[in-house]
Amino acid sequence: MAVTLKYPFVKLEAPPEYRGIPHIEPRLCIGCGACVNACPADALLKIDDHSTGTRKIVLDVGRCIRCARCDEACPTGAIRMTRNFEVATLDRSDHVEVVELRLHRCPNCGNYTDYTERALEKAFQILPEGLFDKEELRKKAILCRNCRRKLTVDDTIEASREVVG
Ligand code: SF4
Ligand code: SF4
Repeated sequence: MAVTLKYPFVKLEAPPEYRGIPHIEPRLCIGCGACVNACPADALLKIDDHSTGTRKIVLDVGRCIRCARCDEACPTGAIRMTRNFEVATLDRSDHVEVVELRLHRCPNCGNYTDYTERALEKAFQILPEGLFDKEELRKKAILCRNCRRKLTVDDTIEASREVVG
């Protein structure tokens, strides 16, 4: 049995339980930011640009301590620990991943909200059937916080008028 491996001339597979660097699958990311909040090393950033309506989720593997908290926190399985351990590079940007998503725009005031279009759609996909009137819920959910608050206040005033007569 060979004791000395010819790595790096021969590719070395890490064992299944090995915790390598994380990777984000852009197709699955909804831009919720849960991984950013969970990361203790500031290896993940959430950058919003309300002038263009974009959110970037940035993973800087150079700061990563391989704790896997992002993997545990991600609700869609978009960020996963891999078995990749080869991170030596002359250019740090080789190990920076950027996922760009569209922020949802309030149809009432036109301002961008603090959640993405994809996160909104995902929320509706996972709502249990029959528990809510989805269309009624959607009317409010697509509004930004300010417009939703105003609508709720208006509804309350309207309802109290009906009670008073
Ligand atoms: S493994 Fe830990 S340190 Fe690395 S990106 Fe995920 S949460 Fe941050
Ligand atoms: S937790 Fe997952 S879905 Fe949410 S921003 Fe991070 S990678 Fe994307």
